[in-house]
Amino acid sequence: MTGSRAGDYRILHEAALRDYLAGVPNLAAVLGGAPASWVITEVGDGNLNLVFIVKGAGGGVAVKQALPYVRLVGESWPLPLSRAHYEYLALSRQAHLAPGLVPALLHHNEPLALTVMELLEPHIIMRKGLVAGTHYPRFVSDVTNFMARTLFFTSDLALSAAEKKEGIAAFAGNHALCKITEDLIFTDPYRVAVQNHWTVPYLNTFAASLRADMELHVAVSRLKLKFMASPEALLHGDLHTGSIMVTEGQTRVIDPEFAFYGPMGFDVGAVLANLLMAYFASAGHERSPGERRAFEGWVLETVEQVWSEFAQKFLDLWRTDAKGDAYPATLFAGEKGAARLEAERQAYIQRLFGDAVGFAGAKINRRIFGLAHNIDFELIEDPRRRAISEARAVRLARAMLVETTTFQTIADVTGAARGLRDWMPEFSN
Ligand code: ADP
Ligand code: MG
Repeated sequence: MTGSRAGDYRILHEAALRDYLAGVPNLAAVLGGAPASWVITEVGDGNLNLVFIVKGAGGGVAVKQALPYVRLVGESWPLPLSRAHYEYLALSRQAHLAPGLVPALLHHNEPLALTVMELLEPHIIMRKGLVAGTHYPRFVSDVTNFMARTLFFTSDLALSAAEKKEGIAAFAGNHALCKITEDLIFTDPYRVAVQNHWTVPYLNTFAASLRADMELHVAVSRLKLKFMASPEALLHGDLHTGSIMVTEGQTRVIDPEFAFYGPMGFDVGAVLANLLMAYFASAGHERSPGERRAFEGWVLETVEQVWSEFAQKFLDLWRTDAKGDAYPATLFAGEKGAARLEAERQAYIQRLFGDAVGFAGAKINRRIFGLAHNIDFELIEDPRRRAISEARAVRLARAMLVETTTFQTIADVTGAARGLRDWMPEFSN
């Protein structure tokens, strides 16, 4: 699938991109017609890379090229081009493990750090749909298939010890992207960092308490260590609602450039956190009181079903497809062994639930106090209203981080969220 020689990286803007695509027969065939007629548009909403939509008479493609720096910040923040390779590798593995849930890969050029994939149309970024109050009836089934299958089949429950370690090695070089997560999610929101920002002045005291709260620092540091030192499975690594494109009938997971072997609860927690933020943001988007109650009910039901369907599917895979070296069948023979192993599966999934709850709390705080915010909150124009929604989310996040074990079931999480829906924070500012 590669064309150029090593070392000839160059940024392909419109004219060069057109020539490049014209020179790859299968892409020219997908696009159809004369290359001069292809319409090339840059998509502006990514943070790290260049993404172009290219349309021809016959069809369209999406082209993603990594830059040697963070697109949003510029050349002062270098970032390795190799992330395109890891994204491509992760997409290939996800396409194999969770067919139909990621965009089809059409072409990859490693020296150019460039990947061409299926154009998702009329899909939109799920976060935008959630801001608009749209329900997605397929989402639970699709995202839980994606998570259960990609996580289970890359774990020691499904793989031999050798295959698993080869997998870890294949992604170990993506450490620069991991470091972004380690800094921006687990560290910076809890200390003074120039890139931090929040809704001033309302959340000033909340930001100060994040910096002073030692119980929170312990909780988030434990999670950071778990993120760094627990290669349980191949993670997507950035599984928020901005990395999911949807129609009402389809779900596609994009943008796995943060992929590496890490703790499963990080991916699951990312989905839960982003749904919970959509829930708390919803009050800030209503034009009349209670206007979005049906949507909010759907979001909390979705939180519950994401966890319960994920857990069910993961456990079912363990019961039917446990070909890995962990939990050798010979140690759990007979009826007694089967019963003991089943109890152990339940204990495992309960620990995973605790991890997901903690990671979800960390994911919420980073979107409210760290560098990268989300449009769920940012599109609430009135800062006071935005701060009210954010403060409710932050209060839940602290409990999820520090009092993780008080959340024994997913209903404990949605119950706490519901209980905060109309809570009015006191702003001293
Ligand atoms: P970044 O890594 O820079 O965040 P993304 O992979 O998230 O880039 O892509 C940026 C944007 O490009 C997405 O938010 C989406 O709007 C659009 N996009 C990405 N891949 C596709 C695709 N396969 N089809 C259609 N649009 C896409
Ligand atoms: Mg990205």
